[in-house]
Amino acid sequence: MGRSSTSVDVAVIGAGPYGLSLAAHLRARGVEHRVFGEPMGPWKHNMPRGMLLKSYPWASCLSDPASEFTVKSFCTERALPYHDTLTPLTLERFIEYGEAFRMRYVPAVENKVLTALEAVGGDLRATFDDGETVNARRVVVAVGLQPFRHLPRDVARLPAELCSHSGDYGSLEPLDGKNVTVIGSGSSATDLAALLHERGIPVSLVARAPQLRFANRPRNRSFIQRMVAPLSGIGPGWALTACAKYPQLIQLLAEERRIRLANPSALGPLGGAFVKDRVIGKVPTSLGTSLQGIGIRNGRVLLDLVSTGGARQSLQTDHVIFATGYRVDASRLGFLSQTLLRDIRLVKGAPQLSSHYETSVPGLHFIGPAAANSFGPVCRFVYGTHHPARALAQYLSSILVRSRPALQVRPFDRTVLP
Ligand SMILES: Cc1cc2nc3c(=O)[nH]c(=O)nc-3n(C[C@H](O)[C@H](O)[C@H](O)COP(=O)(O)OP(=O)(O)OC[C@H]3O[C@@H](n4cnc5c(N)ncnc54)[C@H](O)[C@@H]3O)c2cc1C
Repeated sequence: MGRSSTSVDVAVIGAGPYGLSLAAHLRARGVEHRVFGEPMGPWKHNMPRGMLLKSYPWASCLSDPASEFTVKSFCTERALPYHDTLTPLTLERFIEYGEAFRMRYVPAVENKVLTALEAVGGDLRATFDDGETVNARRVVVAVGLQPFRHLPRDVARLPAELCSHSGDYGSLEPLDGKNVTVIGSGSSATDLAALLHERGIPVSLVARAPQLRFANRPRNRSFIQRMVAPLSGIGPGWALTACAKYPQLIQLLAEERRIRLANPSALGPLGGAFVKDRVIGKVPTSLGTSLQGIGIRNGRVLLDLVSTGGARQSLQTDHVIFATGYRVDASRLGFLSQTLLRDIRLVKGAPQLSSHYETSVPGLHFIGPAAANSFGPVCRFVYGTHHPARALAQYLSSILVRSRPALQVRPFDRTVLP
């Protein structure tokens, strides 16, 4: 294991849509930086194969400096079928697009894991799983949702062969031959229920919600319909359009307002439009049902359930998947030193961010879902990559490049583009 120490202006932690988009803008501006993480890692390993994106194809683009490499242009270049709204984007196609984006704009991603981050002098010192330490003037954390999986408290101590989180699945093969219960009513729950059923795995779905809600199936809309409820990148209506377009304005609102806006009821729990017909009438459901207790009997999971009317029932199953979502909580980022954790001002577990996505620790920034309490719901979507990529790259360039000779960024060599 090599142990070396280097320094860099900006370390971007994460190579998902947010990290890659920011890196593309930093590179174009000649800001010295390094990017760490597995390119599109969670999309490859933590979302079930066969999943359809819930966001429209036009709203699932990473951010490049010229806004030219969209999902549409990627599909057009490769003669792949595409429609802005009427046909969904598959997970597999989105991963291909993300990989092509990386090759084109962020060729030098380093696939290693940040294990420790601490403040040293005026810099931040990042230590990686290969032993390298990097002193960075600025660190941008873009680690997505996976560190923040939420499981009910009693569940975390059950063995992994009996119980898992929806974010544990890329391949569903480990569940073959089992009888599975999915708990939840959002898109992860309904996606998994549909995919397990179609794989021939006996599956049932238990949810507290009295009924499952799904997004409306996309259709061509009249001018009046578009005026009354425009399609924003994150959902229909003027309120979501404002949130999607102007996250910088949300950051100016009072704390309570921002937090309320970060989780609007319009956004969920809500299944994807194309999943409804694959679940309703196909997957047995117990709705209006809460989990009261969970135990193990004869090597199987025993669920103690109660309906809203108070009726109790027991359900035995081989495996339970909790599709219970994610809760941003900075204390779950094991790489943050105790001192940093103490010094980062948190609002409901998430870092409170300045207009430059900077925490109360100078030089430490967060983008992506962890920024939603400051910049609103768009941060929970790929569509939200555009603002931080552009605005933060511009800010970092203004404070860092000024003090260095300009880097020569070679024009892209079109002959080697993917
Ligand atoms: C099941 C599911 C379906 C979704 N569907 C959609 C959808 O259809 N449309 C949409 O807009 N959004 C969707 N989302 C939300 C989507 O995940 C986020 O919008 C998006 O992935 C956030 O991008 P990101 O770059 O912040 O994080 P991610 O894409 O999660 O990438 C995180 C990156 O951080 C890296 N990383 C993590 N920890 C470390 C570490 N310690 N050291 C180094 N690197 C690290 C990872 O390797 C990875 O490169 C979905 C989420 C889930 C869970």
